[in-house]
Amino acid sequence: MTAARRIIDMHVHTDDSPDADIPAGDIAARAAAGGLLGVGFVAHVDFHPADCCTGAFSAETYSRSLERAGGTPGSPLLLAGIEVGEPHLFIEKAMEKSEGMRLDFVTGGLHWIGERLLLDASGFAGADPLDLVEEYLRVCVEIAGSSPIDILAHLGVWRRGLARAGGLVDMDETRLWPGLLRRLFEAMADRGIALEVNTAGLRRPESVTYPTAPVLRFYRECGGRIVTIGSDTHSEPHVFYGLSRGAEILASVGFTEAFGFRDRRPFPYPIVV
Ligand SMILES: [Zn+2]
Ligand SMILES: [Zn+2]
Repeated sequence: MTAARRIIDMHVHTDDSPDADIPAGDIAARAAAGGLLGVGFVAHVDFHPADCCTGAFSAETYSRSLERAGGTPGSPLLLAGIEVGEPHLFIEKAMEKSEGMRLDFVTGGLHWIGERLLLDASGFAGADPLDLVEEYLRVCVEIAGSSPIDILAHLGVWRRGLARAGGLVDMDETRLWPGLLRRLFEAMADRGIALEVNTAGLRRPESVTYPTAPVLRFYRECGGRIVTIGSDTHSEPHVFYGLSRGAEILASVGFTEAFGFRDRRPFPYPIVV
């Protein structure tokens, strides 16, 4: 685990998601021991017919799990969130599914373009990667303009699938698609949607955050100020991986504060590197 003191990790899955296996209480204990400022829990709420998490979410079970975690001695701030896959298609269903539970934030994650899972090599089979990435950005613009989410997760996570497919992932989106990115960031600013710096890519062959530093710099140039840091923790041995590096990258492109969300409203805390 990378030292991650004074950071709120806003993207932590628990065993309430089928692809993750650590109980929320254990995460809270690890966060207390590691000196984190807080943990934003998420559970996958998916409806894409081919997604491994579709149909698994139960608001009742998840709420109970987070309540139990709240009793952890020395626990830092614990925030309750969900990660909605393809929110432009499924946000209404996801909110229905979550009815009755306390929700501090809703994260939107784009994993699928049609039948292509961009997190996996198979998603790029027989496709021109540039076409697919451009389409990914177009859908992100659609999400930002239409979906009532608080945080846009892992912008650029397609690098994971493309790297697995043996493709080159060092392209600079700010040079290839500046107009699309500007539309995306302006839509996010209009609707108060935060941009997440997801540090899971740091432990993968592509070895970058999603999004990369140039994209984060461009977000700031476009007026973007609300950023969250998230490790996308699913299981050992990568609990809270890369948070400090994520904070350093944010600081290097001019950010002095990152955000948590409570009751669906952002609150800042200083980035200390
Ligand atoms: Zn995701
Ligand atoms: Zn996630």
